[in-house]
Amino acid sequence: MRVAAIIIVVVALGLLGVVGAGSRAQVPPPDPPPPVTTDPPGPPTTAPEPPATTPVTTTPATPAPTGPSRAIGQPWHGQLVNGAQLPEVSADWLTWDPVFKQIPNRPERRWGTAKLIATLRRVLASWHAAHPEMPQILIGDMSRPQGGVFDKRYGGLGHASHQNGLDADVYYPRADHRLLAAYKPSLVDRALAQDLLNRFVAAGVQFVFVGTRVGLTGPKKVVQVLAHHNDHMHVRIFPPRG
Ligand SMILES: [Zn+2]
Repeated sequence: MRVAAIIIVVVALGLLGVVGAGSRAQVPPPDPPPPVTTDPPGPPTTAPEPPATTPVTTTPATPAPTGPSRAIGQPWHGQLVNGAQLPEVSADWLTWDPVFKQIPNRPERRWGTAKLIATLRRVLASWHAAHPEMPQILIGDMSRPQGGVFDKRYGGLGHASHQNGLDADVYYPRADHRLLAAYKPSLVDRALAQDLLNRFVAAGVQFVFVGTRVGLTGPKKVVQVLAHHNDHMHVRIFPPRG
């Protein structure tokens, strides 16, 4: 009887083992389908993302475009080809996100022609060298990586221009030296803001748009008063030649 009982137990265990193996064998089939079905939708939706995220990490290290930067069309209806990205911070400037109101600005909001980047570098370096006691100047939105529409869909008031790599928002230096936008004209160090404006004019930019209440002046053809510019000046350069 004992032998028979042992045999029965062994057989039963064997059966359980088979059943167990069978159930394990049945589990994998349901599993593979999910990956298979989730993967196909994945690539189409995630494939566009790598181009968006790749420049974020690689462009600071490899800013070299394949050809000269080109500003296509108009600042209010245009595109940017072979643009360059402004580094998020430097000794002379910090980038400022006007929507989240923080440093730095997001990578996809600070692109321009190589000429615009060079102009910003040169002017801000000379201004800072003249005022070493001051912190860096804040630079806000420029253009998107390939230019194009940059309106309120991208947050805040958005921009009618800033479409072809020729525009940059440059925040006025604050009298209290705080690294924030000057939300009220009374916060602006007017003399230092005027000096910054003068340096952009001397650099040969096409326009500098300034606010109605900050009292900045310059050549009429270049310096123009415009609403919504009481905390920053909007610099527009001439398109690069060629
Ligand atoms: Zn602007």
